[in-house]
Amino acid sequence: AKGRGRNTFHFFDQAMNSRAIRRLDIEMALRHAISAGQLELHYQPKIASANGAITGVEALVRWRRPGEGLIQPDEFIPLAEESDLIVAVGEWVLHQACAQIKAWRAKGFGDVPVAINLSPRHFRRDKDLDGIIATVEAAGIPPHLIEIEVTETTLMHDPEKAIALLQRLRDRGFGIAIDDFGSGYSNLSYLRRLPITTLKIDRAFVMDIEHNQDNIEIIRAIIAMANALSLGLVAEGVENERQFAFLRNSDCAVVQGYYFSRPLPPAELESLLQRPRSP
Ligand code: C2E
Ligand code: CA
Ligand code: CA
Ligand code: CA
Repeated sequence: AKGRGRNTFHFFDQAMNSRAIRRLDIEMALRHAISAGQLELHYQPKIASANGAITGVEALVRWRRPGEGLIQPDEFIPLAEESDLIVAVGEWVLHQACAQIKAWRAKGFGDVPVAINLSPRHFRRDKDLDGIIATVEAAGIPPHLIEIEVTETTLMHDPEKAIALLQRLRDRGFGIAIDDFGSGYSNLSYLRRLPITTLKIDRAFVMDIEHNQDNIEIIRAIIAMANALSLGLVAEGVENERQFAFLRNSDCAVVQGYYFSRPLPPAELESLLQRPRSP
């Protein structure tokens, strides 16, 4: 019985090990991917609903893994978020976004504001946020060209700490958007205390505007809230003309979604940007 017990234990041990090894394998590959230049950013335009102009872009990371093609963030960001790896990913994304802003400037497209997504880990320790601020300073990019997107859940972990760290970003001039807004539990009084500039309406509410009266009411309430707090508004996940018409008529200033453009590699995004002024 003793022997069997040991074997049983050994069996579970092995199963756990192989899972851990698989995770470690992806983690090591991702760590390598950063230094080997396998990550890339695609950019999805944000559109002014009044006139169709591009007001900025959101940077979305992809992993071009040799032999496996282009891997979408949902397949590796959650894993990266389990360790400090996500801090390195965030800094790489910001570094790359700054380089892209400079490149567009040099090509005559002017200043294109870029939004990046940051994960909860960046809002736990001062030193991780220092890395973000230092990256932008080293690049010589004015912080107002960078908008940091964070979700409500990111801030929920330690709301007071999060407010203090967001305030540091605001003091430097970064824009701050609450991503996927409406899916969390922020009430108006908490929202008022957040040093933010923009609310991004969660795609879930935009998705079935046509069939769901509740979602129409929720979007109207979010728009009223943003107006009351003088915050910018972006609706994400706009996929068709009816959704866009409703949002435009409801005075949602900025829209984003497949109806206008998918996230694009930089060269393709350039064909949508205003043509360079001739030198
Ligand atoms: P998110 O920040 O909410 O980004 C929006 C996601 O919705 C993107 O997926 C985008 O491609 C997709 N999307 C845009 N318009 C539409 C539409 O009209 N319909 C539909 N169905 N989807 C649309 P993506 O690029 O796969 O990114 C997924 C998530 O991965 C992001 O959600 C974000 O949470 C995370 N992510 C992406 N890049 C980064 C990054 O650099 N850092 C971190 N921490 N997270 C990232
Ligand atoms: Ca986002
Ligand atoms: Ca979002
Ligand atoms: Ca999301």
